[in-house]
Amino acid sequence: MCGIVGVYGHVEAANIAYLGLHALQHRGQEAAGIVTSDGDHFHQVREQGLVGDAFDKGALARLPGHLAIGHTRYSTAGDGSGRNVQPFAVEYAHGSLAVAHNGNLVNAPELRRKLELDGSIFQSSSDTEVIIHLIARQREVDIETRIVNALRQVEGAYSLVFLTESKLIAVRDPRGFRPLCLGRLKDAFIFASESCAFDLIEAEMMREVEPGEMVTIDAKGLRSVRPFAEEGRRFCVFEHVYFARPDSIIDGRPVNRVRELLGERLAQEHPVEADVVIPVPDSGTAAAIGYARASGIPYAQGLIRSHYVGRTFIEPQQSIRHFGVRLKLNAVRDVLNGKRVAVVDDSIVRGTTSRKIVKMLRSAGAREVHVRISSPPTTHPCFYGIDTPTRSELIASSHTPDEIARYITCDSLGYLSRDGMMEAVAAAMPAKDEAKVDKALPGARHCDACFSGHYPIEFKPGSISSLRRVVN
Ligand code: AMP
Repeated sequence: MCGIVGVYGHVEAANIAYLGLHALQHRGQEAAGIVTSDGDHFHQVREQGLVGDAFDKGALARLPGHLAIGHTRYSTAGDGSGRNVQPFAVEYAHGSLAVAHNGNLVNAPELRRKLELDGSIFQSSSDTEVIIHLIARQREVDIETRIVNALRQVEGAYSLVFLTESKLIAVRDPRGFRPLCLGRLKDAFIFASESCAFDLIEAEMMREVEPGEMVTIDAKGLRSVRPFAEEGRRFCVFEHVYFARPDSIIDGRPVNRVRELLGERLAQEHPVEADVVIPVPDSGTAAAIGYARASGIPYAQGLIRSHYVGRTFIEPQQSIRHFGVRLKLNAVRDVLNGKRVAVVDDSIVRGTTSRKIVKMLRSAGAREVHVRISSPPTTHPCFYGIDTPTRSELIASSHTPDEIARYITCDSLGYLSRDGMMEAVAAAMPAKDEAKVDKALPGARHCDACFSGHYPIEFKPGSISSLRRVVN
């Protein structure tokens, strides 16, 4: 759960990277960093905090050069320390190398153990550092081959941007779990996790980096190779459900359209007699619009979100999270008083948010509260880059929807089915692009492990506890 950017060939590379990170702030709010190259040397700034706080004018002035990569970080509990803030930059036998990573490597613990036994000394607890060590050990002369040989040893989710003194290289893992887009700003090339970053800097979206593709940009121009064995696409369906910004186009689809269709489908699967449909803002907004449209029930803002707190879930301590729901959301009595309310959110993780929201809606006068969730029950943790709690903390891993409804004290609860979700995702692909994608069964192109437990990459039993040290 992180956002990454790369800039090649812009006089204000650091400023462009900074703006790109701003647009990707939702992908990680704990720390941010930018590394630039002036052609000979690297310059770097890495700080804890939001993008706007991490870089002031002075910091950006300390980042000269035409090339830049940037990273905005979301850490799991327990390891928000500065040593894990990316991009990582190193000096090694072949010069300078920096990397920014979105994803999570599932075999990082065993690779790291091997490297450590072989004498490697690690500076961080991040799986990304494993990639750097693997690259440093390759004997080939050109950086692309070294990166490919290193990445052939890793398993998992990785959208990566690498920087050398004079090259920008982007790679996406063969399954393409995490997004990565390529854009153009006059003569400059830009990579960004999501296309919303291009809108901010007025860059033109060229295309998405394909799963298994490596794109190099240097003085000779742009080159693309596909050095990895085909694995079959497994784009993360939860990016569509929750994580990506609705104004982004990723996985060939406008995210907002996916979410509205999820809401429409939810209304068909779980209709309700209600006077008003309200979203849990912002995560449930697009789905609630779809739900209202399909059900014919008026849509209103029954909850107002303060925009001056981060996502509540992001707070590492449970005690802060409880407090955070009220800090973040307040009910609008005028909309709710005496009404039968259908409240739409994208997911239930631990159940604490929904429980508090139901309570809040009732105290604002709601006569009935019907909770509708625009995805299936979240039953399994993600090991490919989304920060979800352990299985035992996921309420749906051990409770039925009826039990969850009782826990959150709503009058009824409806989750979208897996088929419904996959069909909505499939239907959001613009018709003109359908011919371009493989005609696999709906869902076969996506990873839905958090809803199904079907993990596209196997991991060794016992390796799980060490896996989630850091999510990128
Ligand atoms: P919970 O109280 O744990 O059930 O949290 C549910 C809320 O967290 C929903 O409003 C979701 O939009 C949001 N959410 C779901 N997954 C995540 C995640 N990985 N990180 C942050 N927030 C999330």
